[in-house]
This record gives sequence, structure tokens and C-alpha cells, in this order.
Amino acid sequence: MEASKPKVGIFGLTGCAGDQLQILNCEDELVRLAQRLDIVDWVMARSDNNHLCRLDLAFVEGVVATERDLQSLKEIRARTKTLVALGTCAVWGGLPAMKNDIPRDVLEREVYGPGVSFLDSVEALPPTDFVHFDLQLPGCPIERREFLAAVNALLAGTEPELPKVPVCWECKAKENVCRVVYAQEVCCGAMTRAGCGARCPSHGVACAGCRGPIEEPNYDANITMFAGRGISWVEIARKMSHFSAPVWMTQGLEQEMRHEPKR
Ligand code: SF4
Ligand code: SF4
Repeated sequence: MEASKPKVGIFGLTGCAGDQLQILNCEDELVRLAQRLDIVDWVMARSDNNHLCRLDLAFVEGVVATERDLQSLKEIRARTKTLVALGTCAVWGGLPAMKNDIPRDVLEREVYGPGVSFLDSVEALPPTDFVHFDLQLPGCPIERREFLAAVNALLAGTEPELPKVPVCWECKAKENVCRVVYAQEVCCGAMTRAGCGARCPSHGVACAGCRGPIEEPNYDANITMFAGRGISWVEIARKMSHFSAPVWMTQGLEQEMRHEPKR
């Protein structure tokens, strides 16, 4: 008798759904994967879903930005054996967490105008702040190759290995000219986890840090290096606040900006 296939769920909280789209974009590989898995709950791809059954494996993308997100996340955790955070929003908070230092009512007014009462948004935080995840896959969006390798490893009962080196390592391996040295740009490659093949600097664009920080990123040294190359505090803070630096660091930079002479 054929052994039953692992039951899988794929879920999105608040976010752009780009990571789920990356899974759909796996195309042929996804068809092959589907022969080894039973994807039972994936609203983006199926109309007939089982929202209650136990799951062997589940993936969650997006941030917790409403009370409903948190409730959904807890329900997914409770029914899942192996839970994977999918993408930089789920792992670190990503772009939705960029403005957490501004009160929600101010943000809501800025975006939707005054007098809007239907919103129930809360501070945007990564799901990893609320429940235990067995694996965290960064990326904005995730890398298809990394996702497929991770699923294959999990199905084989092993733990997938993520790169520990920074984007600069991949960038140097490709013999790119360094954006910091050549163009005096804020490039976040030295603080950012590799795995994308240094995609942006390889196309002449500085790394924005979308894969989130490496273990032990040296923010101070990078900021000193950028400032030493004549880049303004405003520019450093603006670029680093996207993905790379935690809020406390960019707040520190903003204090420096206030003391910066007008150019
Ligand atoms: S261009 Fe960016 S990623 Fe490449 S070596 Fe320079 S700092 Fe690192
Ligand atoms: S180079 Fe940086 S911004 Fe570009 S994909 Fe890689 S981690 Fe993301």
C-alpha cells in the first residue's frame, strides 16, 4: 500500500503574497513536488481547501499587522508539525515594519485620510516574534532554488543549510566592481545574508539588504565606512532603514542627521 503523502498548508498574513507567487512560479518543479506532497490548504492556488486538518508541514508569509493575523497564526501553529517562515517579512518584519516608530493612528491617517474607522491594524511584527518556527527562509521574495532545496531537505528528514556568508562574498566571487568604492553608494551587501547570488550589484544596483541581516552584522563599521566616503547621514539612514538595520540603529542615525550641516 502506498504511504500517505505529507499534508501541507501555505498561508499568507499581511503582505504582498510575493513569496506564495514564487512558489507558484516553480512551475515544473512544483508539479513534481505536488506528486510527493498533499497540498491541502492553499487559498491562493486551490478553491477546495481543508482549513481544519492536521498539517505535517506549513509555510507562513507576511507580517502580523492585525489581530486576525495573530489569531490565524496561532491556529496554523497549533495544527502544524513543522512550520516554516517564508520571506523577510515573516522572518524579520521586512518593509511593513519600516514605520513602526510612527504611531498607527498617524500612519492610518497618512494612508487612508481622516475619519476611517474600519481598520484594526496593529504594529507590524514578524510572525517569528509570536510563535516558534522550525525553519526561517529569508528573501524578498524567497529564492525558488532555496525553497525547493529546503522542502527536499525537510522531506528527507534533514535540516536545510542556509548561507552564512554575506552578499559581498557572492559579489566578490562574481568579480563585480564594488558599488561603495566605485560609486560612493550605500550598499548593504556586507550586512546582508547571501543566497541571491548578489543579484543587485551584479546588475549595477546597490544591495538594499532584502534578505535580512547576517549573524552578527557590523552596522557601526559599515556606517563609518559610508560616512568616510562622503555619503550623507540622510542617505545612509534612508537606505539602511529599508531592510538592513534594526529600528534602534536608524533612530540613532536620525539623531546624527539632525546635527548634520545643511549641504
Ligand atoms: S558592491 Fe555591495 S555587495 Fe558588492 S562588494 Fe561592494 S558592498 Fe559588497
Ligand atoms: S543583492 Fe541585496 S537587495 Fe538584491 S536580491 Fe540580494 S539581498 Fe536582496
